[in-house]
Amino acid sequence: MKILIVEDEDAIAVPLAEGLSREGFEVTRVANGTDALACPEPDLVLLDLRLPDMDGLDVCRELRARSQVPIIVVTAKGEEVDRVVGLEVGADDYVVKPFGLRELVARIRAVSRRTGARAEGGADEDGPLAVGPLEIDLRAHRVTLEGDEVALTAKEFDLLTLLAREAGAVVSRERILAEVWNTTWYGSAKTIDVHVASLRRKLGDPSWIETVRGVGLRLRDA
Ligand code: CA
Repeated sequence: MKILIVEDEDAIAVPLAEGLSREGFEVTRVANGTDALACPEPDLVLLDLRLPDMDGLDVCRELRARSQVPIIVVTAKGEEVDRVVGLEVGADDYVVKPFGLRELVARIRAVSRRTGARAEGGADEDGPLAVGPLEIDLRAHRVTLEGDEVALTAKEFDLLTLLAREAGAVVSRERILAEVWNTTWYGSAKTIDVHVASLRRKLGDPSWIETVRGVGLRLRDA
C-alpha cells in the first residue's frame, strides 16, 4: 500500500516515514502542497494542514475534486476548525499531533477498509460491519455475537457502530458525543460511561471496549 506523506517538518516526517515503512507501507514524502498535487496518486494521503506554500485544506479539496483517494488530515492540538473543515472538504479522518504510530496505523487501516468498500461501489455504508465474531447489520439495526442476537438500545447501537467502523483505533470522547449524541457538551461525558458499561455487559466481555484514559475508547480489533 502506497502512502503519500505531505509534511514540511523533517522532525515529524522522517520518523513517520521510517515507522510506516517498518510497518510494511511504501512511503513517499513531499514537503509542500504543489509537490503533493504533482505526485502520482497513492493509495492514501497523510496530509498536514500547515504547509509552506498552500493551505492544506486547499490541497485536500483539490485532491478530492479529482479522486477518491483516502485522505487523513493531520492537525495540531486545538485546531478544531481545521479538523472540522478538513472533514467537510473531503478528508476521511484526522489525527491530532502528537500522535502515536500505533494509533495512526489503526486509522490508516480503518480508513482503507471504509474507502475500499466505497471504491468497489457495492459494499456501501449500509453493508454489514464485522469485527471478528461481532456483526453489525446496519440495515436491520441488528447486532449478533457469534450468531446470537445482542439486544441494544438505539444509542448503544450507534456507539458500537461508530467504534466498530474504526476498530483498533481510539475514538475520542469528543467525537463520540458529537456523532452519537449530537452534542459537544462535556457535561454529558458521563452518559458515554453509562452506555459503555452497559455495552460491555451485553457483549459479555469487558475487553471488547478499552478505555484509553484522557483520549477515548477503542473497540478491540477482533
Ligand atoms: Ca507543517
